[in-house]
Amino acid sequence: MDLAAHDQLFERLWSGEAAMEEWSAAVAGGFARSIGDDVIAIHTGYLFGNATAIRTAAGLVLIDTGSRETASQTLAILRDWDDAPVHTVIYTHGHIDHTWGARLLDAEADARGVARPHIIAHRNVLRRFARYDATAELNSLVMGRQFNQPGYTFPGAHRRPDQIYDDALGLAIGGRRLELTHGRGETDDATFVWLPDRRLLISGDFVIWVFPNAGNPRKVQRYAPDWAAALRRMQALEPAVLVPGHGPVIMGAPRVGQVLDDGAAVLESLCEQTLALMNAGRSLNDILHAVAAPREFLAKPYLLAKYDDPEFVVRHIWHLYAGWFDGNPAHLKPAPAGALAGEIAALAGGTARLARRAELLAETGQTRLAAHLIELAAAASPEDTAVQATRAAIYARCMAAETSLIGRAIFATYQREAAARASPSPAGVDGGASGPISRLR
Ligand SMILES: [Zn+2]
Repeated sequence: MDLAAHDQLFERLWSGEAAMEEWSAAVAGGFARSIGDDVIAIHTGYLFGNATAIRTAAGLVLIDTGSRETASQTLAILRDWDDAPVHTVIYTHGHIDHTWGARLLDAEADARGVARPHIIAHRNVLRRFARYDATAELNSLVMGRQFNQPGYTFPGAHRRPDQIYDDALGLAIGGRRLELTHGRGETDDATFVWLPDRRLLISGDFVIWVFPNAGNPRKVQRYAPDWAAALRRMQALEPAVLVPGHGPVIMGAPRVGQVLDDGAAVLESLCEQTLALMNAGRSLNDILHAVAAPREFLAKPYLLAKYDDPEFVVRHIWHLYAGWFDGNPAHLKPAPAGALAGEIAALAGGTARLARRAELLAETGQTRLAAHLIELAAAASPEDTAVQATRAAIYARCMAAETSLIGRAIFATYQREAAARASPSPAGVDGGASGPISRLR
């Protein structure tokens, strides 16, 4: 694919005519998108973090390094373009789809007998890597469920930065000026990079061509209000070019401004709605059913709720301001799940009746209610294979009703578990269809 073909595809993406999957397939195998003479964005697919390479008189500056799956491709594209040593690497944040390739750069430098790249990141990247070391098994489990890939193994031995900063850092490398600014959004360790002489913004995962991933159910705290604030700071720079963390480069101040403005506005809306209800003393459950992202934003090709779900973002906003208690006093000191389920099943006239009602609700599209009732039935009679079969069927319906990849993958995990318990056999465990593969974090 040449640049003209790429840009034609971009226009179709921008208008909503083409889906991101088409772009992702077009750049699979690696694509260098030139931005003037001395900068390229390296794409290896939507699901894998972009890298940006900048030529300087001192050597190359690389912003992000590629995913475990595609880092060698990223390096090959870089070397096609320029063979100079990598002088400096900047991590936009510590997620492994952006940092993993650093080990390849170290190995390359060692093989050439030149200095390893000097790696710079926000201070919290070090804290993140320490946390990763402490929770390796948990991360494997969570990621396997988030992406519906049983057996997923989270990598270890994260390449630490050589230099950290706190709020902002100005760099002059080989005659080129770079300004690093810290913000919180998807993570607490994020950096966006600004090249003032080129009006070039490298946003990291503050911009990812999908609804902001600020709600992820199994991840540590995310920061919707800070994310919006960071987008506003970027907007104030009036960039002419934006290299996002994932997806294609956006050219031209009007379009860049629009993407930054819309991303900030939809997060601000969710935060304002949620906080107003929190200040009015409403419970989390009330708020989840009262707050919604404005539809006009969700229709934008760069804000589709295909990955995260705005409802999950509301939960992280609640948690950011109010901790874990959801405002339901029964949840403060809950009974064991089996004991509660036993009481309800007895009142309902038995587990089978609960399961049947759950099935009927699911058949009429009331999958939220159905999930509550079938979990009660399963908790009341954990060995009942018929209940598990109904449970598997209900989670299949929940999956079908779900637009977000993360929501679908989590339901898929429990659908598979229920199917295995419905017909206990070695083939049942972790068998079945595997879902879409993604590497966004
Ligand atoms: Zn990413």
